[in-house]
Amino acid sequence: MSTYERDPSSCTSLQQALVRRFPGRVLTDPDQLARYAADALAAARAHRSGFRAEALPAAVVRAASVEDVRELLRWAQEEGVPVVPFGGGSGVMGGSVAVAGAVTLDLRGLDRVRRVSREDRVVEAEAGVLLADLSQALEPHGLFFAHDPWSIHVATVGGAISTNGAGYRVGGYGRMADQVLGLEVVLAGGELVRTPGVPAPGPGPELHRLFCGAEGILGVVTAAVLRAWPKPEAERLLALRFPRFEDAWAWVSSLFEVGLRPAVLDVGEEPGSGPPGPGGYRTETTAYVGFDGPREVVEASAARCLRLAAEHAGQRLPDQEADQFWRTRHQPGREFARRVRAQPDARLRVRWGRLFDYLCVSLPASAVLEFRKVAFERLAREGYRLAEFGLWGTSELVSVAYSDPHGDPAEEGHRARLAEVSDALLREALRAGGALEYCHGAGLKLRHLVPEALGRGVEVLRAVKRALDPKGILNPGKLL
Ligand SMILES: Cc1cc2nc3c(=O)[nH]c(=O)nc-3n(C[C@H](O)[C@H](O)[C@H](O)COP(=O)(O)OP(=O)(O)OC[C@H]3O[C@@H](n4cnc5c(N)ncnc54)[C@H](O)[C@@H]3O)c2cc1C
Repeated sequence: MSTYERDPSSCTSLQQALVRRFPGRVLTDPDQLARYAADALAAARAHRSGFRAEALPAAVVRAASVEDVRELLRWAQEEGVPVVPFGGGSGVMGGSVAVAGAVTLDLRGLDRVRRVSREDRVVEAEAGVLLADLSQALEPHGLFFAHDPWSIHVATVGGAISTNGAGYRVGGYGRMADQVLGLEVVLAGGELVRTPGVPAPGPGPELHRLFCGAEGILGVVTAAVLRAWPKPEAERLLALRFPRFEDAWAWVSSLFEVGLRPAVLDVGEEPGSGPPGPGGYRTETTAYVGFDGPREVVEASAARCLRLAAEHAGQRLPDQEADQFWRTRHQPGREFARRVRAQPDARLRVRWGRLFDYLCVSLPASAVLEFRKVAFERLAREGYRLAEFGLWGTSELVSVAYSDPHGDPAEEGHRARLAEVSDALLREALRAGGALEYCHGAGLKLRHLVPEALGRGVEVLRAVKRALDPKGILNPGKLL
């Protein structure tokens, strides 16, 4: 029973107005609201950008239909109340965390797969459909969904579009935005906009792209027409070990040089027993590479790929290692989903138990080795532990994870030093001609760097925001 049902007079007038409009679909209990105070943004990172995930929303509306979304936004526009769109709450930048005084709009009730067409190779799904459920819905049609992040069991279609996420198949199939053909979006005033659900939706700029990666500040995505890919005739996944990251790097470059485009590419350099590299870190590099398509093409691609690996000191690992990697690839997301299920209404934080950061930057290929050198030298100077340096999908998508082994997350000074180091590495990526983030958005954590990352472009984005949301009610303070 909600607080309102127990005692309507204990609710604010805002909560009462919402309960009258959306009976049975409004949360007002502080314990329930606490779930929406944070996304997966770690407590250890919550200091970034001066942010602390402490605010509770004024109320949560659990939309059950597109009409609910329209009605809430019409009301919010009239009343000048901010609205925070919330998908699976698995974002790691604070994009869906509550803003004090705002209403959080939980979209998980929009969970219908409206249409699957084998002939058109498309699927139309509502924003709250979990990515894992979408994949399952395509199975009987001999189709698959190509955006395959770790968090497939908890992230929603709308959240993945709004962060423009990347997954294991990003090399062969692109990011989430590349799967989107058309969108259904509710604007700040409640107007419904639909863009054509075909590959060339002209004339003019492709409007649906405006909402991909927009983190809910320009409109609320209610449904999308998405590409569904025919299951490939053959798939081949290989595991390789390289003595040095530089060898793996040269091998990846050679793949692209000869025109091979792996469907899956995951190169990870982790602490190990290799020779010391930049910063003195001793590491080992493991790569997983996969091809799919017609059988002859797959076999020829895999054979050429192995020859190129051998030329760069790569050793093939047993196929069981590749199978194990593929079977367990969603484990971190499953663990997160399990915790959400176990404590659906409790305040959720990923507690790393230590100071940790994880950056995913996009770089020109020619800048990757220099970025790695600068990053490792800085991390070593700070005495930080390297957790992983990696490439995902292509030679340009780079991630680096590290922790402060002696840092205390409760110590302001330790947190500030980690933030300073992370900002320095992100600025190094920008200086090298790269971009801030390739899959998680900026949310609250990185919004302070957005003007540097976009330059004059930030004025264009602000002008679009003012035009679409003049009262600034949609997800205020996020991204911009
Ligand atoms: C363990 C773990 C593993 C992860 N692995 C990956 C990974 O491999 N790849 C990757 O890209 N990300 C990954 N993430 C991050 C996260 O899963 C993605 O950012 C995901 O796309 C967020 O989806 P969500 O539904 O949880 O969105 P939320 O976290 O709820 O929201 C994210 C942003 O989108 C906005 N939003 C949500 N729904 C809508 C909507 N319908 N309309 C408008 N705006 C909306 C929110 O306001 C917020 O700004 C991981 C996270 C965790 C915890």
